[in-house]
Amino acid sequence: MSVSAACVASGLITNGSAGVSQYQQQLGKSVPLAPPLFQSSVYSLPDLDALDAILDAGEAGFVYARDSHPNARLLAQQMANLEAAEWSVVCGSGMAAITASLLAIVGPGERIVASNRLYGRTTQLLGTELARYGVETQFVDSNDLDDVRGALTANARVLFVETISNPLLRVADLHALVELAREHRCHLVVDNTFATPILCRPLELGADLVLESLTKFIGGHSDLTLGVVCGRSGLHQRLAQVVTTWGLAANPFDCWLATRSLPTLALRVRAACANAMALADWLTNLPGIGRVIYPGRSDHQDMEIARRVLDGGFGHMLGFELRGGREAANRFFRLAKDAPLSPSLGHTSTTSSHPACTSHRFLGSDEKAKLGITDGLIRLSVGIDDLPKIKASIKGAIG
Ligand SMILES: *Cc1c(COP(=O)(O)O)cnc(C)c1O
Repeated sequence: MSVSAACVASGLITNGSAGVSQYQQQLGKSVPLAPPLFQSSVYSLPDLDALDAILDAGEAGFVYARDSHPNARLLAQQMANLEAAEWSVVCGSGMAAITASLLAIVGPGERIVASNRLYGRTTQLLGTELARYGVETQFVDSNDLDDVRGALTANARVLFVETISNPLLRVADLHALVELAREHRCHLVVDNTFATPILCRPLELGADLVLESLTKFIGGHSDLTLGVVCGRSGLHQRLAQVVTTWGLAANPFDCWLATRSLPTLALRVRAACANAMALADWLTNLPGIGRVIYPGRSDHQDMEIARRVLDGGFGHMLGFELRGGREAANRFFRLAKDAPLSPSLGHTSTTSSHPACTSHRFLGSDEKAKLGITDGLIRLSVGIDDLPKIKASIKGAIG
């Protein structure tokens, strides 16, 4: 098949607009090994019958990029495969994916039961924004199954948790939460960003929706902002409708970048997990360090759950406490040049962050103390860089 025929057959090119047909001629029998970027925001069509065929009969093709475009569709297929999903919808950010999931399911007068350890913006979305539309959220300790059970009353439509939480890396007992959600006919929605589908596939365990911020480890190079929602049952059309109508869609270039990131995802996850495990053990023996937080260590309260829920590693996130409080933390950030202060996660190389001043900045000091988020707590997003180099950088910043 010629490249043009292949493109037409796969729905990548729907017509012979001048520029595109020139490219087709130049390509001859050549097929680009890297997936092309289709930056176009709109597609031209030969006639109304062709338009109807796409819009009404589900024929291959594209019309308007906010509804769908080739780079989003390719990325969605790849993410669905990774998550063992039947369908997947790509969104403009992780928050867009969370927003879309919740808007697709809940309405006024209905309730959400959510973990009290969620990503800060998710907590705001639930507690402030959705509350304005008559959706009430009850926050629970999602590692206390009695607490969760008690909150799952009749009009609870969604149970929302993160596989691994920030920054204490509590691991959700997804097996138990799936059972509870089923008993109460409630959708279990899982934010799997810290785990990635390499370590955990919540849909396989029985979750209804899984979502990821691709901005973090999946993108992996700190150069894109995207999210994705994946599922198995009937919510696909609802999600697609919400994403296009509320304007939560993803742009082609970021999708193209994410597609480039995926072939190395499993390798990167494995390398970062191995680095994180080694660093966690090594850190416990360093002077000046209080506790070390890593779910792969036996002194983490959720290690047994982590062994069951995660497969092939315990993640790339790691916490440790400097005994000297804020002063020691500031010194660490100034000196740790190979683990720079950078309040995101999932970069190729190791970065550090300070939960008390970033993700949990707006909590009162009492609340922070209750959660165990102290001024000396450093969070590392461990990368795939050379382990001796990371150790040297950390050691030089602590001593
Ligand atoms: C970053 C993050 C999000 C939000 O993702 P964006 O792509 O920044 O919108 C949601 N959940 C978790 C756990 C995150 O770390």
